[in-house]
Parts: sequence; structure tokens; C-alpha cells
Amino acid sequence: MKFYSTNKKSKEVSFKEAVIKGIADDGGLFMPASFPVLPKKFFDEIENLSFQEICFEVANTIIGDEIPSKTLQSIINNAINFKAPIVKLNNNIGVLELFHGPTLAFKDFGARFMAEALSYFSKENKKNITILVATSGDTGSAVANGFLNSKGIKVFLLYPEGKVSHIQEMQLTTLDGNITALEVNGTFDDCQKLVKQAFLDNELKKNFFLSSANSINIARLIPQSFYYFNAYKQLEDKNKPLIFCVPSGNFGNLTGGLISKKMGLPVEKFIAAVNSNDVFPNYLKTGKFIPKPSIKTISNAMDVGNPSNFYRILDIFNNDWYKLSTEISSSSFSDELTKSAIKRIRKDYNYLIDPHGAVGYLALEEYIKQNKIESFNGIILETAHPAKFIDIMEDVLKENIEIPERLESSLYKEKKSIKISNEYTDFKNFLLNQN
Ligand SMILES: *Cc1c(COP(=O)(O)O)cnc(C)c1O
Repeated sequence: MKFYSTNKKSKEVSFKEAVIKGIADDGGLFMPASFPVLPKKFFDEIENLSFQEICFEVANTIIGDEIPSKTLQSIINNAINFKAPIVKLNNNIGVLELFHGPTLAFKDFGARFMAEALSYFSKENKKNITILVATSGDTGSAVANGFLNSKGIKVFLLYPEGKVSHIQEMQLTTLDGNITALEVNGTFDDCQKLVKQAFLDNELKKNFFLSSANSINIARLIPQSFYYFNAYKQLEDKNKPLIFCVPSGNFGNLTGGLISKKMGLPVEKFIAAVNSNDVFPNYLKTGKFIPKPSIKTISNAMDVGNPSNFYRILDIFNNDWYKLSTEISSSSFSDELTKSAIKRIRKDYNYLIDPHGAVGYLALEEYIKQNKIESFNGIILETAHPAKFIDIMEDVLKENIEIPERLESSLYKEKKSIKISNEYTDFKNFLLNQN
């Protein structure tokens, strides 16, 4: 498979090149040149396949020409080593729990697969790979966890001092080994600026083989289609219309779903659920995409005012706004409504849903009311474990939230971080001293 750039100004590249580069030379995002449709047999017999077998079939169809089957299988076995079950709320609605990975958010799927793919492709490299990641919380720990103990790879995480939650900070700073956490005296934007500047620095490029493990890497997108197929496998009545409701920020998760449909998954509708950051629903209404500064909300992983995967989605629909707006619907919900949904879902279904999933629930509920459908498979993607947002959950529900063991264990380890200023020369000198 070849991969093209959404800006269409640079030439097509191999999967390997797309993974290592991260972003195309013309600044665009990589996309597969085509979406092969999976054979009917795959869907007919999907119930006999394990989650990992499903992942393999999907991945092999897109990138099997570049990675030998055995290697691809082991990449998947190492990366996707946790489950993605559907918990039914009622006959029509289920929650697809994507938080069973090591850092309790769906980012584990993409980050772990990318880490395995990058390690594989860098085996022939003489130089070690140095990964720089700026993080405002969740992404950094998922990426770092994916690369933990990978040979030939060093990871530097930059996070803003005092601006991530206690749990997030402990997840970032207790990994050790080949992971170094840099506590930057500044904001998340400062962290991002330092990383961007490093990638443009010729002296650093001479000394290091730098790679960015950011969210737009194609190796993070492909595995985000796997669990849509695995959700279909779990449906009891596969003839009912299938609706996926995806809490969205940068729209990578939704793009993964659109890819699964392109590859033959029978999806009736995608719903993009957003918080007060409503650029996408406005686009569906008006046909105009107008990025805005982000607004802070309690579903903070979706606080995005300029969703980076928007141009991938446009390409999937050949820029056809009409077609796009018939296949995807989208609505926006306030923090107040989100909090009341968390309470309602706890009371009505005895289920703890995190603030991101609660936005998803609201969007599905609204869609069902507006379209008056009675029998369907409505699947809400639950993108994070509620314990990751323990302060909000306990405040809203007035009850104690249990912290899963894999999260709790990092809370009792020793925090290790290196403090740096937000000056580029400090960061650069620090890196040069590592060699
Ligand atoms: C990243 C994230 C999202 C948003 O996903 P996108 O792919 O950026 O749309 C939603 N919920 C949680 C918990 C996340 O970490």
C-alpha cells in the first residue's frame, strides 16, 4: 500500500516511510491510497475470530505487503494485549469500553501499535531513535508506555509543570528505563513549541535520529479501526442498524471508524459527539470549517478547536459535504448536561461513565429522539476509564470511585522528572548532553 499526503504536494510513500516521517514533507497527513474491502467470508465468520485475529486481518489487508505475516502478528499480539468489550445498557444501547489498556484510555490502541511498528522499522537503523512528545496529559503516558523498554528507542516527554492532574503526572514520571519526563516551566503550548523547534534544528538532526510520535501518525490511525470490527463481532442481532457514537476531539477515533466502513463494515451512521468545542457540528450545518481557539471543559481530552484529522475525513468523502453530512451527524453538549448525564446513567443503568463517554451518551440519545428509531445497535465508544477523572466523578456523584490497580500502582512509585525552563537553548543543551 502506498500512502499519500492530504496536501497532495509530495509524492506517495511506503508505510515504513509514513510511520517514520509522521508528517508528510508538504505538511499534510498520510492516508492509504485505497481502502480494500474485506471479503464477505470475513464478516460471515467474524464470530469465530479472536480480537487479535480480527486486528490481523484488518492490518494485513492494508499493510500486509510491507510486513511479513509472522511479524505483523507479533506486533499485534504485543500492542493489542487487552480487551475491548461491549457492556449493554439496554436492548438498543451498549458501551464499547476502550479503556482496558495500561493507561486507561483508548489512546493505548494507537500508541502501542505505533510503538511496535516504529521499533520494527528502526531495527535496521544504526542510530538509536529519539522520540520527543509534548503532552498535556493522556497522550504522553500512552505513547511512553508503548515504547517502554523498546530497544534502540529513547523517549523524552515534555509536560507543563503544575498543569496536569496528579494521576496524569504520576503516570508520566514513574516509568523510568528508556523514558525521561521533562517538567517544563511553562504551558503545553511551550512544550509543543520546543518539540517543533527541535525537529527543525539541523545540529540536533545531525546528532539524533528524531521521530515524533504525535497523534497524526498513520500508525496510530490504522489500529483505531480494529475495535469497530470487534464491536460488530459482539452484536447479538447484526441485522439491526448499527450506529457508532464517538466522543471526538481531534477526530482520529472517528476517522478509524470511517475507515472500517470503507473496508466493508456495515455501519448505518456515525455520530461525532463533542463538548462546547463545536467546530465540527457547525461545519455539518453550514459547510464551512472555521477553527476556533479551544474552550476548557470537563471532557478535556476533547477540548480541540482545530481538529487535526478534519482533512483526512474530507478526503474520505472526496470533499463532498453533502455525502459527509448524510453519513455523519454531530452535536455539542455543555458541561452541565454532561454532569447530569453521568448522574442519570449511574442511576438508570448502574453504570459509571466518564465525562467523555457521557457526551457520547447525550449525542446518541438526541439522535434517537430526533430520528424516532426504535430498534438499533447504538454503540457509545467509552474512551477513558472514569477513575482517570476521579475528582469530577466524585464531585458529581458524591460517592467514592475505585481506582483500578494498574493505575494505582503508579501512584506509589517515586516521581522522577527533570525540570527545564521553556527556553529552547536549555532544552537543546539538555538533549545534546544525552549523547
Ligand atoms: C483523545 C481522547 C478523545 C478524543 O479522541 P480524538 O481521536 O482526538 O477525537 C476522547 N476521549 C478521551 C478520553 C481521549 O483521551
